[in-house]
Amino acid sequence: MRTQLAEKTNQLANLSDDDLVKRLGSHVEAILDLLGVDRRDPNVHETPRRVAAMFLEMFHGLREGAEPQITTFPNDEAYSAMVMERDIPFYSMCAHHLVPFYGHAHIGYIPGKRIVGLSKIPRILEFYAKRPQIQERLTEQVADYLWSKLEPLGVMVVIEARHLCVEMRGVKKPGALTVTSAIRGAFENAKVREEFLGFLSRAQKW
Ligand code: ZN
Repeated sequence: MRTQLAEKTNQLANLSDDDLVKRLGSHVEAILDLLGVDRRDPNVHETPRRVAAMFLEMFHGLREGAEPQITTFPNDEAYSAMVMERDIPFYSMCAHHLVPFYGHAHIGYIPGKRIVGLSKIPRILEFYAKRPQIQERLTEQVADYLWSKLEPLGVMVVIEARHLCVEMRGVKKPGALTVTSAIRGAFENAKVREEFLGFLSRAQKW
């Protein structure tokens, strides 16, 4: 499965963005035609190209070289408490239906020998969000990335999201919130998890 996916990515890497938009666009045309949409409508005329370009943007995490370069710094101050980035907004696309799910991620870690630039944390989230995704996997992938690259004492990721596939279709439950979490290392300890949740429940002042 893994090899197959890698080969597919390589195939895409050989195509220029223009070629990709053209090829994706022709499939969007086929979908519109099968649905009976009149492509002579001036509003629809450019839609295949627009949808194709949008897919490239929304699935950017699949492209070669999309993985963020993570600079870490020595933890010279020997900071040993929790570092948390909360309320990081994100948009992703549900792998089951290719419609958006979106919300906020809260990401905390306890440094070991290295710390990470704070702006890198949202970039990691973005990299894994920009692909057909499921929330459970997104949560785990962000946790695993930090756990393996930073070798911290612990990592915890909580994601709260609304799924348009739950709201617009199927059971049609607008406003339902899906919450997922992933924990590594020190966060296995209930007291450490409580501290994370304590940070999370504090009202935002700005
Ligand atoms: Zn879905």
